[in-house]
Amino acid sequence: MSNQEDLFKNLISHSKEYGFIFQSSEIYDGLSAVYDYGQNGVLLKNNIRNYWWQSMVQLNENIVGIDAAIFMHPTTWKASGHVDAFSDPLIDNKDSKKRYRADVLIEEHVAKIEAKIDKEVEKAAKRFEGFDEKMFRSTNARVLEYQNKIDEINERFKKALNENDLTEVRQIIIDCDIVCAVSGSKNWTDVRQFNLMFSTQLGSVAGDSDTIYLRPETAQGIFVNFLNVQKTGRMKIPFGIAQTGKAFRNEIVARQFIFRMREFEQMEMQFFIRPGTQKEWYENWKQIRLKWHNALGIDANKKRFHDHIKLAHYADAACDIEFEFPFGFKELEGIHSRTDFDLRNHEQFSGKKQQYFDPELNQSYTPYVIETSIGLDRMFLAIMASSLKEEKLEDGSERVVLSLPAALAPIKVAVFPLMGKDGMPEKAMEIMNILKFDYNCWYEEKDNIGKRYRRQDAIGTPYCITVDQQSLEDNTVTIRDRDTMKQDRVSIDKIPSIIEEKVSMKSLLKKLG
Ligand code: ATP
Repeated sequence: MSNQEDLFKNLISHSKEYGFIFQSSEIYDGLSAVYDYGQNGVLLKNNIRNYWWQSMVQLNENIVGIDAAIFMHPTTWKASGHVDAFSDPLIDNKDSKKRYRADVLIEEHVAKIEAKIDKEVEKAAKRFEGFDEKMFRSTNARVLEYQNKIDEINERFKKALNENDLTEVRQIIIDCDIVCAVSGSKNWTDVRQFNLMFSTQLGSVAGDSDTIYLRPETAQGIFVNFLNVQKTGRMKIPFGIAQTGKAFRNEIVARQFIFRMREFEQMEMQFFIRPGTQKEWYENWKQIRLKWHNALGIDANKKRFHDHIKLAHYADAACDIEFEFPFGFKELEGIHSRTDFDLRNHEQFSGKKQQYFDPELNQSYTPYVIETSIGLDRMFLAIMASSLKEEKLEDGSERVVLSLPAALAPIKVAVFPLMGKDGMPEKAMEIMNILKFDYNCWYEEKDNIGKRYRRQDAIGTPYCITVDQQSLEDNTVTIRDRDTMKQDRVSIDKIPSIIEEKVSMKSLLKKLG
Protein backbone atom coordinates (compact mmCIF):
# COMPACT_ATOMS: atom_id res chain seq x y z
CA MET A 1 0.00 0.00 0.00
CA SER A 2 1.36 3.41 -0.91
CA ASN A 3 2.08 6.12 1.62
CA GLN A 4 -0.70 8.22 0.23
CA GLU A 5 -3.21 5.41 0.66
CA ASP A 6 -2.04 4.98 4.24
CA LEU A 7 -2.36 8.69 4.86
CA PHE A 8 -5.88 8.69 3.51
CA LYS A 9 -6.93 5.72 5.66
CA ASN A 10 -5.43 7.40 8.71
CA LEU A 11 -7.24 10.59 7.89
CA ILE A 12 -10.60 8.82 7.69
CA SER A 13 -10.10 7.00 10.98
CA HIS A 14 -8.69 10.09 12.69
CA SER A 15 -11.70 12.10 11.53
CA LYS A 16 -13.97 9.59 13.21
CA GLU A 17 -11.93 8.96 16.34
CA TYR A 18 -11.71 12.64 17.20
CA GLY A 19 -15.29 13.65 16.42
CA PHE A 20 -14.80 15.37 13.07
CA ILE A 21 -16.75 13.18 10.63
CA PHE A 22 -19.07 10.22 11.06
CA GLN A 23 -20.73 8.05 8.45
CA SER A 24 -24.39 9.06 8.21
CA SER A 25 -26.82 6.71 10.03
CA GLU A 26 -23.91 4.50 11.00
CA ILE A 27 -25.97 2.30 13.33
CA TYR A 28 -27.91 1.20 10.22
CA ASP A 29 -24.64 0.50 8.39
CA GLY A 30 -24.48 3.96 6.91
CA LEU A 31 -25.81 5.67 3.80
CA SER A 32 -23.40 5.74 0.91
CA ALA A 33 -21.67 9.08 0.22
CA VAL A 34 -23.53 10.87 3.00
CA TYR A 35 -21.66 12.04 6.10
CA ASP A 36 -22.31 13.81 9.41
CA TYR A 37 -19.99 16.30 11.07
CA GLY A 38 -19.22 15.67 14.74
CA GLN A 39 -18.54 18.00 17.65
CA ASN A 40 -15.16 19.13 16.33
CA GLY A 41 -16.02 18.82 12.65
CA VAL A 42 -18.91 21.25 12.88
CA LEU A 43 -16.68 23.88 14.48
CA LEU A 44 -13.96 23.51 11.83
CA LYS A 45 -16.58 23.59 9.09
CA ASN A 46 -18.21 26.71 10.54
CA ASN A 47 -14.82 28.40 10.73
CA ILE A 48 -13.99 27.63 7.10
CA ARG A 49 -17.40 28.96 6.08
CA ASN A 50 -16.90 32.11 8.17
CA TYR A 51 -13.47 32.69 6.66
CA TRP A 52 -14.99 32.48 3.18
CA TRP A 53 -18.06 34.55 4.06
CA GLN A 54 -16.15 37.32 5.81
CA SER A 55 -13.53 37.49 3.06
CA MET A 56 -16.34 37.99 0.53
CA VAL A 57 -19.10 39.92 2.28
CA GLN A 58 -17.30 41.75 5.07
CA LEU A 59 -14.11 42.75 3.25
CA ASN A 60 -15.75 43.85 0.00
CA GLU A 61 -18.17 46.74 0.07
CA ASN A 62 -19.56 45.66 -3.32
CA ILE A 63 -20.40 42.07 -2.34
CA VAL A 64 -23.52 41.17 -0.36
CA GLY A 65 -24.87 37.82 0.77
CA ILE A 66 -28.18 35.98 0.55
CA ASP A 67 -29.64 32.73 1.78
CA ALA A 68 -32.01 31.28 -0.81
CA ALA A 69 -34.19 28.21 -0.30
CA ILE A 70 -33.12 24.75 -1.41
CA PHE A 71 -36.38 24.21 -3.26
CA MET A 72 -36.91 26.41 -6.30
CA HIS A 73 -39.54 26.67 -9.00
CA PRO A 74 -38.93 23.71 -11.36
CA THR A 75 -38.61 25.99 -14.39
CA THR A 76 -35.40 27.34 -12.82
CA TRP A 77 -33.69 24.07 -13.74
CA LYS A 78 -35.08 24.11 -17.28
CA ALA A 79 -33.67 27.59 -17.76
CA SER A 80 -30.30 26.72 -16.23
CA GLY A 81 -29.89 23.69 -18.50
CA HIS A 82 -29.81 21.18 -15.65
CA VAL A 83 -32.96 19.27 -16.68
CA ASP A 84 -31.57 18.58 -20.14
CA ALA A 85 -27.82 18.49 -19.67
CA PHE A 86 -26.83 17.64 -16.09
CA SER A 87 -26.25 13.93 -16.46
CA ASP A 88 -23.74 11.07 -16.49
CA PRO A 89 -23.74 8.16 -19.00
CA LEU A 90 -24.49 4.91 -17.12
CA ILE A 91 -24.12 1.25 -17.98
CA ASP A 92 -25.10 -1.86 -15.99
CA ASN A 93 -23.54 -5.29 -16.00
CA LYS A 94 -26.41 -7.79 -16.44
CA ASP A 95 -24.67 -10.54 -14.46
CA SER A 96 -23.48 -8.66 -11.38
CA LYS A 97 -26.22 -5.99 -11.62
CA LYS A 98 -23.48 -3.50 -10.84
CA ARG A 99 -23.80 -0.01 -12.27
CA TYR A 100 -20.91 1.99 -13.71
CA ARG A 101 -20.28 5.35 -15.29
CA ALA A 102 -19.52 4.50 -18.91
CA ASP A 103 -17.08 7.39 -19.27
CA VAL A 104 -15.18 6.26 -16.16
CA LEU A 105 -14.92 2.67 -17.45
CA ILE A 106 -13.34 3.95 -20.67
CA GLU A 107 -11.05 6.41 -18.89
CA GLU A 108 -9.86 3.72 -16.50
CA HIS A 109 -9.19 1.40 -19.44
CA VAL A 110 -7.08 4.11 -21.11
CA ALA A 111 -5.25 4.71 -17.82
CA LYS A 112 -4.36 1.01 -17.70
CA ILE A 113 -2.79 1.18 -21.18
CA GLU A 114 -0.90 4.31 -20.12
CA ALA A 115 0.42 2.42 -17.13
CA LYS A 116 1.71 -0.30 -19.50
CA ILE A 117 3.63 2.34 -21.44
CA ASP A 118 5.11 3.69 -18.21
CA LYS A 119 6.24 0.20 -17.30
CA GLU A 120 8.01 -0.25 -20.66
CA VAL A 121 9.73 3.10 -20.18
CA GLU A 122 10.76 2.18 -16.66
CA LYS A 123 12.18 -1.17 -17.79
CA ALA A 124 14.15 0.38 -20.63
CA ALA A 125 15.47 3.18 -18.41
CA LYS A 126 16.97 0.55 -16.11
CA ARG A 127 18.58 -1.34 -19.00
CA PHE A 128 20.23 1.47 -20.99
CA GLU A 129 22.65 4.03 -19.75
CA GLY A 130 22.03 7.58 -21.05
CA PHE A 131 18.42 6.59 -21.73
CA ASP A 132 16.53 9.09 -23.90
CA GLU A 133 12.89 8.78 -22.82
CA LYS A 134 11.47 11.01 -25.52
CA MET A 135 13.23 9.07 -28.26
CA PHE A 136 12.15 5.75 -26.72
CA ARG A 137 8.52 6.83 -26.56
CA SER A 138 8.51 7.93 -30.20
CA THR A 139 10.32 4.88 -31.65
CA ASN A 140 9.72 1.77 -29.55
CA ALA A 141 7.33 -0.51 -31.43
CA ARG A 142 5.42 -1.74 -28.38
CA VAL A 143 4.99 1.75 -26.95
CA LEU A 144 3.79 3.03 -30.31
CA GLU A 145 1.28 0.23 -30.53
CA TYR A 146 -0.10 1.11 -27.07
CA GLN A 147 -0.14 4.81 -27.90
CA ASN A 148 -2.06 4.22 -31.14
CA LYS A 149 -4.62 2.24 -29.19
CA ILE A 150 -5.05 5.10 -26.71
CA ASP A 151 -5.38 7.70 -29.46
CA GLU A 152 -7.92 5.62 -31.28
CA ILE A 153 -10.08 5.09 -28.18
CA ASN A 154 -9.90 8.76 -27.18
CA GLU A 155 -10.81 9.88 -30.69
CA ARG A 156 -13.84 7.57 -30.86
CA PHE A 157 -14.94 8.48 -27.35
CA LYS A 158 -14.70 12.23 -27.90
CA LYS A 159 -16.71 11.96 -31.12
CA ALA A 160 -19.35 9.77 -29.45
CA LEU A 161 -19.76 12.24 -26.59
CA ASN A 162 -19.99 15.23 -28.90
CA GLU A 163 -22.66 13.52 -30.97
CA ASN A 164 -24.37 12.13 -27.86
CA ASP A 165 -24.09 8.71 -29.50
CA LEU A 166 -24.62 6.33 -26.56
CA THR A 167 -24.69 3.20 -28.76
CA GLU A 168 -21.16 4.02 -29.86
CA VAL A 169 -20.09 4.57 -26.22
CA ARG A 170 -21.31 1.03 -25.45
CA GLN A 171 -19.55 -0.31 -28.55
CA ILE A 172 -16.25 1.20 -27.38
CA ILE A 173 -16.63 -0.60 -24.05
CA ILE A 174 -17.24 -3.88 -25.88
CA ASP A 175 -14.43 -3.35 -28.42
CA CYS A 176 -11.99 -2.61 -25.58
CA ASP A 177 -12.94 -5.91 -23.92
CA ILE A 178 -13.80 -4.08 -20.72
CA VAL A 179 -15.22 -6.51 -18.17
CA CYS A 180 -17.19 -5.97 -14.96
CA ALA A 181 -14.88 -6.00 -11.95
CA VAL A 182 -17.37 -8.12 -10.00
CA SER A 183 -18.71 -10.70 -12.47
CA GLY A 184 -15.81 -10.58 -14.93
CA SER A 185 -18.34 -10.66 -17.79
CA LYS A 186 -18.94 -8.39 -20.79
CA ASN A 187 -22.69 -8.75 -20.54
CA TRP A 188 -23.48 -5.01 -20.68
CA THR A 189 -26.82 -3.19 -20.96
CA ASP A 190 -27.32 -0.17 -23.19
CA VAL A 191 -25.82 3.13 -22.05
CA ARG A 192 -28.34 5.60 -20.66
CA GLN A 193 -28.02 9.20 -19.57
CA PHE A 194 -28.79 9.54 -15.88
CA ASN A 195 -29.74 12.94 -14.50
CA LEU A 196 -27.87 13.83 -11.32
CA MET A 197 -30.68 15.89 -9.80
CA PHE A 198 -32.74 14.46 -6.96
CA SER A 199 -36.43 15.03 -7.50
CA THR A 200 -39.33 14.95 -5.12
CA GLN A 201 -43.00 15.89 -5.03
CA LEU A 202 -44.39 19.18 -3.86
CA GLY A 203 -47.66 18.83 -1.95
CA SER A 204 -49.64 15.62 -1.80
CA VAL A 205 -50.51 14.93 -5.44
CA ALA A 206 -47.96 12.97 -7.42
CA GLY A 207 -47.58 13.91 -11.04
CA ASP A 208 -45.19 15.49 -13.48
CA SER A 209 -46.30 19.03 -12.90
CA ASP A 210 -45.51 18.78 -9.19
CA THR A 211 -41.97 17.46 -9.56
CA ILE A 212 -39.43 19.70 -7.93
CA TYR A 213 -35.70 19.26 -7.46
CA LEU A 214 -33.26 19.54 -4.61
CA ARG A 215 -30.90 22.19 -5.94
CA PRO A 216 -27.74 20.71 -7.52
CA GLU A 217 -25.93 24.05 -7.10
CA THR A 218 -26.57 27.18 -5.06
CA ALA A 219 -25.83 29.56 -7.95
CA GLN A 220 -29.36 29.63 -9.38
CA GLY A 221 -30.75 31.01 -6.12
CA ILE A 222 -28.47 33.98 -6.72
CA PHE A 223 -29.43 34.46 -10.37
CA VAL A 224 -33.17 34.47 -9.74
CA ASN A 225 -32.66 37.06 -6.98
CA PHE A 226 -30.32 39.24 -9.00
CA LEU A 227 -32.80 42.07 -9.53
CA ASN A 228 -34.25 41.84 -6.00
CA VAL A 229 -30.81 42.40 -4.51
CA GLN A 230 -29.68 44.95 -7.07
CA LYS A 231 -32.78 47.10 -6.60
CA THR A 232 -33.26 46.82 -2.83
CA GLY A 233 -29.52 47.15 -2.14
CA ARG A 234 -29.09 49.87 -4.79
CA MET A 235 -26.11 47.92 -6.04
CA LYS A 236 -24.02 49.30 -8.90
CA ILE A 237 -22.22 47.08 -11.37
CA PRO A 238 -19.67 45.61 -10.77
CA PHE A 239 -21.08 43.87 -7.70
CA GLY A 240 -21.30 40.40 -6.28
CA ILE A 241 -23.80 38.18 -4.45
CA ALA A 242 -22.45 35.46 -2.19
CA GLN A 243 -24.21 32.43 -0.78
CA THR A 244 -23.34 29.29 1.13
CA GLY A 245 -25.65 26.31 1.42
CA LYS A 246 -26.50 22.72 0.74
CA ALA A 247 -26.53 21.23 -2.75
CA PHE A 248 -27.53 17.71 -3.77
CA ARG A 249 -26.31 15.46 -6.57
CA ASN A 250 -27.13 11.83 -7.12
CA GLU A 251 -23.49 10.97 -7.80
CA ILE A 252 -23.08 7.51 -9.27
CA VAL A 253 -19.49 6.84 -8.44
CA ALA A 254 -19.42 8.22 -4.93
CA ARG A 255 -16.09 7.37 -3.37
CA GLN A 256 -13.21 9.09 -1.68
CA PHE A 257 -14.83 10.00 1.61
CA ILE A 258 -16.18 13.57 1.67
CA PHE A 259 -14.62 14.44 -1.70
CA ARG A 260 -17.72 13.37 -3.61
CA MET A 261 -20.91 13.40 -1.58
CA ARG A 262 -24.58 13.22 -2.46
CA GLU A 263 -25.42 16.00 -0.03
CA PHE A 264 -22.76 18.66 0.29
CA GLU A 265 -22.28 22.36 0.85
CA GLN A 266 -21.16 24.98 -1.63
CA MET A 267 -19.82 28.50 -1.17
CA GLU A 268 -20.55 30.43 -4.33
CA MET A 269 -20.21 34.02 -5.41
CA GLN A 270 -21.57 35.47 -8.63
CA PHE A 271 -19.93 38.71 -9.69
CA PHE A 272 -22.03 40.80 -12.10
CA ILE A 273 -20.06 42.88 -14.60
CA ARG A 274 -20.33 44.86 -17.80
CA PRO A 275 -20.24 42.71 -20.97
CA GLY A 276 -16.78 42.91 -22.49
CA THR A 277 -14.95 43.14 -19.16
CA GLN A 278 -15.14 39.41 -18.39
CA LYS A 279 -11.54 38.56 -19.33
CA GLU A 280 -10.11 41.08 -16.92
CA TRP A 281 -12.47 40.13 -14.06
CA TYR A 282 -11.91 36.44 -14.64
CA GLU A 283 -8.14 36.89 -14.21
CA ASN A 284 -8.75 39.13 -11.21
CA TRP A 285 -10.90 36.59 -9.41
CA LYS A 286 -8.43 33.78 -10.13
CA GLN A 287 -5.77 35.75 -8.25
CA ILE A 288 -8.07 36.79 -5.40
CA ARG A 289 -9.14 33.22 -4.79
CA LEU A 290 -5.59 31.88 -4.90
CA LYS A 291 -4.60 34.48 -2.32
CA TRP A 292 -7.44 33.29 -0.08
CA HIS A 293 -6.09 29.74 -0.23
CA ASN A 294 -2.48 30.78 0.23
CA ALA A 295 -3.25 32.91 3.31
CA LEU A 296 -3.98 29.65 5.14
CA GLY A 297 -0.32 28.73 4.87
CA ILE A 298 -0.94 25.41 3.13
CA ASP A 299 1.97 24.24 0.97
CA ALA A 300 1.74 26.22 -2.31
CA ASN A 301 2.99 23.19 -4.27
CA LYS A 302 -0.19 21.38 -3.35
CA LYS A 303 -2.31 23.79 -5.39
CA ARG A 304 -2.42 24.53 -9.08
CA PHE A 305 -4.67 26.06 -11.73
CA HIS A 306 -6.13 23.72 -14.29
CA ASP A 307 -7.81 25.29 -17.32
CA HIS A 308 -10.87 23.52 -18.68
CA ILE A 309 -10.43 22.30 -22.22
CA LYS A 310 -14.05 21.32 -22.75
CA LEU A 311 -16.15 24.23 -21.53
CA ALA A 312 -19.57 23.77 -19.92
CA HIS A 313 -22.53 24.97 -21.95
CA TYR A 314 -22.62 28.29 -20.08
CA ALA A 315 -18.95 29.29 -19.98
CA ASP A 316 -16.53 31.25 -22.18
CA ALA A 317 -13.56 30.53 -19.90
CA ALA A 318 -13.19 28.27 -16.89
CA CYS A 319 -10.53 26.84 -14.64
CA ASP A 320 -10.22 24.89 -11.43
CA ILE A 321 -8.02 25.43 -8.46
CA GLU A 322 -6.83 21.89 -7.92
CA PHE A 323 -5.47 20.52 -4.68
CA GLU A 324 -3.21 17.53 -4.28
CA PHE A 325 -5.48 15.24 -2.26
CA PRO A 326 -4.03 11.90 -1.06
CA PHE A 327 -5.51 10.41 -4.25
CA GLY A 328 -3.97 12.98 -6.62
CA PHE A 329 -4.59 16.51 -7.92
CA LYS A 330 -8.37 17.07 -8.04
CA GLU A 331 -10.76 20.01 -8.34
CA LEU A 332 -11.25 22.01 -5.17
CA GLU A 333 -12.78 25.18 -6.57
CA GLY A 334 -14.10 26.29 -9.94
CA ILE A 335 -13.78 29.79 -11.39
CA HIS A 336 -16.05 30.29 -14.35
CA SER A 337 -16.77 33.09 -16.76
CA ARG A 338 -20.49 32.32 -17.22
CA THR A 339 -21.26 35.07 -19.76
CA ASP A 340 -24.91 36.24 -19.62
CA PHE A 341 -26.12 32.66 -20.08
CA ASP A 342 -28.09 32.32 -16.85
CA LEU A 343 -29.72 35.73 -16.68
CA ARG A 344 -30.59 35.60 -20.38
CA ASN A 345 -32.26 32.22 -19.99
CA HIS A 346 -34.15 33.23 -16.86
CA GLU A 347 -35.40 36.27 -18.76
CA GLN A 348 -36.58 34.03 -21.59
CA PHE A 349 -38.22 31.37 -19.41
CA SER A 350 -39.84 33.78 -16.94
CA GLY A 351 -40.77 36.47 -19.43
CA LYS A 352 -39.38 39.05 -16.97
CA LYS A 353 -36.57 41.38 -17.94
CA GLN A 354 -33.31 40.62 -16.12
CA GLN A 355 -31.44 43.74 -17.16
CA TYR A 356 -29.47 46.41 -15.41
CA PHE A 357 -29.63 50.10 -16.23
CA ASP A 358 -26.07 51.43 -16.17
CA PRO A 359 -26.24 55.14 -15.28
CA GLU A 360 -22.68 55.77 -16.46
CA LEU A 361 -23.32 54.33 -19.92
CA ASN A 362 -26.92 55.49 -19.90
CA GLN A 363 -27.97 52.11 -21.26
CA SER A 364 -29.51 48.80 -20.17
CA TYR A 365 -27.85 45.44 -20.64
CA THR A 366 -27.81 41.86 -19.34
CA PRO A 367 -24.77 41.67 -17.07
CA TYR A 368 -22.02 39.10 -17.58
CA VAL A 369 -21.02 36.96 -14.63
CA ILE A 370 -17.80 35.60 -13.13
CA GLU A 371 -18.48 32.80 -10.68
CA THR A 372 -16.28 31.43 -7.93
CA SER A 373 -17.57 28.13 -6.58
CA ILE A 374 -15.96 26.05 -3.89
CA GLY A 375 -17.15 22.95 -2.04
CA LEU A 376 -17.02 23.49 1.72
CA ASP A 377 -16.60 19.78 2.37
CA ARG A 378 -13.78 19.50 -0.16
CA MET A 379 -12.06 22.45 1.46
CA PHE A 380 -12.49 20.69 4.80
CA LEU A 381 -10.87 17.56 3.35
CA ALA A 382 -8.00 19.58 1.82
CA ILE A 383 -7.29 21.25 5.16
CA MET A 384 -7.45 17.99 7.10
CA ALA A 385 -5.19 16.25 4.56
CA SER A 386 -2.54 18.92 4.72
CA SER A 387 -2.70 19.25 8.53
CA LEU A 388 -2.60 15.67 9.80
CA LYS A 389 0.94 14.68 10.73
CA GLU A 390 2.73 12.01 12.66
CA GLU A 391 5.85 13.45 14.24
CA LYS A 392 8.85 11.72 15.75
CA LEU A 393 9.97 13.60 18.84
CA GLU A 394 13.49 14.02 20.16
CA ASP A 395 12.91 11.60 23.02
CA GLY A 396 12.01 8.91 20.49
CA SER A 397 8.27 9.05 21.14
CA GLU A 398 5.67 9.94 18.51
CA ARG A 399 2.79 12.31 18.45
CA VAL A 400 -0.13 12.87 16.10
CA VAL A 401 -0.74 16.54 15.49
CA LEU A 402 -3.34 18.30 13.42
CA SER A 403 -1.57 21.51 12.48
CA LEU A 404 -4.70 23.32 11.34
CA PRO A 405 -4.46 27.00 10.40
CA ALA A 406 -4.89 28.40 13.93
CA ALA A 407 -7.84 30.66 13.09
CA LEU A 408 -9.79 27.65 11.81
CA ALA A 409 -9.10 25.30 14.72
CA PRO A 410 -12.30 24.00 16.41
CA ILE A 411 -10.99 24.73 19.90
CA LYS A 412 -8.68 27.70 20.25
CA VAL A 413 -7.54 27.24 23.83
CA ALA A 414 -7.63 24.36 26.29
CA VAL A 415 -7.39 25.23 29.98
CA PHE A 416 -6.11 22.61 32.42
CA PRO A 417 -5.71 22.67 36.18
CA LEU A 418 -2.58 20.61 36.80
CA MET A 419 -4.47 18.90 39.62
CA GLY A 420 -8.15 18.82 40.44
CA LYS A 421 -7.64 20.33 43.89
CA ASP A 422 -6.06 23.15 45.94
CA GLY A 423 -8.00 25.87 44.12
CA MET A 424 -6.49 25.09 40.71
CA PRO A 425 -9.83 24.19 39.07
CA GLU A 426 -11.32 27.47 40.33
CA LYS A 427 -8.40 29.46 38.91
CA ALA A 428 -8.70 27.60 35.60
CA MET A 429 -12.43 28.40 35.47
CA GLU A 430 -11.61 32.08 36.00
CA ILE A 431 -9.47 31.96 32.85
CA MET A 432 -12.23 30.08 30.97
CA ASN A 433 -14.65 32.81 31.95
CA ILE A 434 -12.39 35.49 30.45
CA LEU A 435 -11.78 33.66 27.16
CA LYS A 436 -15.08 31.94 26.44
CA PHE A 437 -16.77 35.09 25.14
CA ASP A 438 -14.27 35.30 22.27
CA TYR A 439 -13.26 31.72 21.60
CA ASN A 440 -14.30 28.10 21.81
CA CYS A 441 -12.36 26.86 24.82
CA TRP A 442 -12.02 23.44 26.42
CA TYR A 443 -11.69 22.65 30.11
CA GLU A 444 -10.34 19.34 31.34
CA GLU A 445 -9.14 17.88 34.64
CA LYS A 446 -8.95 14.20 33.80
CA ASP A 447 -5.73 12.24 33.06
CA ASN A 448 -2.15 13.34 33.34
CA ILE A 449 -1.14 16.57 31.66
CA GLY A 450 0.84 14.81 28.89
CA LYS A 451 -2.24 12.89 27.78
CA ARG A 452 -4.32 16.04 27.85
CA TYR A 453 -1.79 17.83 25.62
CA ARG A 454 -1.77 14.93 23.13
CA ARG A 455 -5.55 14.93 22.85
CA GLN A 456 -5.54 18.65 22.04
CA ASP A 457 -2.70 18.17 19.51
CA ALA A 458 -4.85 15.58 17.77
CA ILE A 459 -7.75 18.00 17.28
CA GLY A 460 -5.50 20.92 16.39
CA THR A 461 -5.88 23.19 19.45
CA PRO A 462 -3.25 25.94 19.04
CA TYR A 463 -2.81 26.71 22.76
CA CYS A 464 -3.00 24.83 26.06
CA ILE A 465 -2.93 26.78 29.30
CA THR A 466 -1.99 25.00 32.51
CA VAL A 467 -2.77 26.28 35.99
CA ASP A 468 -0.30 24.98 38.59
CA GLN A 469 0.75 25.67 42.16
CA GLN A 470 2.68 28.78 41.15
CA SER A 471 -0.42 30.22 39.44
CA LEU A 472 -2.10 30.42 42.83
CA GLU A 473 0.81 32.43 44.18
CA ASP A 474 1.71 34.86 41.37
CA ASN A 475 -1.16 34.72 38.89
CA THR A 476 0.96 33.25 36.08
CA VAL A 477 0.27 30.15 34.00
CA THR A 478 2.14 28.13 31.39
CA ILE A 479 0.98 28.46 27.81
CA ARG A 480 1.97 25.70 25.40
CA ASP A 481 2.22 26.16 21.66
CA ARG A 482 0.82 23.24 19.62
CA ASP A 483 3.44 23.41 16.87
CA THR A 484 6.64 24.02 18.83
CA MET A 485 5.39 22.31 22.02
CA LYS A 486 7.25 25.09 23.82
CA GLN A 487 5.84 26.24 27.15
CA ASP A 488 6.16 29.82 28.34
CA ARG A 489 5.17 31.19 31.69
CA VAL A 490 3.03 34.30 31.30
CA SER A 491 0.87 36.41 33.50
CA ILE A 492 -2.86 35.70 33.16
CA ASP A 493 -3.72 39.22 32.02
CA LYS A 494 -1.42 38.83 28.96
CA ILE A 495 -3.25 35.74 27.69
CA PRO A 496 -5.99 37.40 25.60
CA SER A 497 -3.54 39.43 23.53
CA ILE A 498 -1.13 36.51 23.00
CA ILE A 499 -3.97 34.34 21.78
CA GLU A 500 -5.65 36.92 19.63
CA GLU A 501 -2.56 37.54 17.54
CA LYS A 502 -2.43 33.96 16.38
CA VAL A 503 -5.92 32.50 16.45
CA SER A 504 -8.43 35.23 15.70
CA MET A 505 -10.25 35.33 12.37
CA LYS A 506 -9.19 38.96 12.19
CA SER A 507 -5.52 37.95 12.05
CA LEU A 508 -6.25 35.64 9.14
CA LEU A 509 -8.44 38.13 7.26
CA LYS A 510 -5.75 40.79 7.58
CA LYS A 511 -3.49 38.67 5.37
CA LEU A 512 -5.95 39.30 2.53
CA GLY A 513 -5.38 43.05 2.76
P1 ATP B 1 -16.49 17.29 -10.26
O1 ATP B 1 -15.88 17.45 -11.63
O2 ATP B 1 -15.51 16.91 -9.19
O3 ATP B 1 -17.74 16.45 -10.26
P2 ATP B 1 -17.91 19.68 -10.78
O4 ATP B 1 -17.08 20.26 -11.88
O5 ATP B 1 -19.16 18.99 -11.13
O6 ATP B 1 -17.00 18.73 -9.84
P3 ATP B 1 -18.95 22.19 -9.94
O7 ATP B 1 -20.27 21.91 -10.53
O8 ATP B 1 -18.04 23.16 -10.61
O9 ATP B 1 -18.18 20.80 -9.70
O10 ATP B 1 -19.16 22.57 -8.40
C1 ATP B 1 -18.36 23.52 -7.73
C2 ATP B 1 -17.67 22.92 -6.53
O11 ATP B 1 -18.58 22.19 -5.71
C3 ATP B 1 -16.57 21.93 -6.87
O12 ATP B 1 -15.35 22.59 -7.14
C4 ATP B 1 -16.48 21.09 -5.63
O13 ATP B 1 -15.63 21.70 -4.67
C5 ATP B 1 -17.90 21.10 -5.10
N1 ATP B 1 -18.58 19.84 -5.42
C6 ATP B 1 -19.18 19.49 -6.58
N2 ATP B 1 -19.72 18.26 -6.50
C7 ATP B 1 -19.46 17.82 -5.25
C8 ATP B 1 -19.78 16.61 -4.54
N3 ATP B 1 -20.48 15.64 -5.11
N4 ATP B 1 -19.35 16.49 -3.26
C9 ATP B 1 -18.65 17.48 -2.66
N5 ATP B 1 -18.33 18.64 -3.27
C10 ATP B 1 -18.73 18.81 -4.55
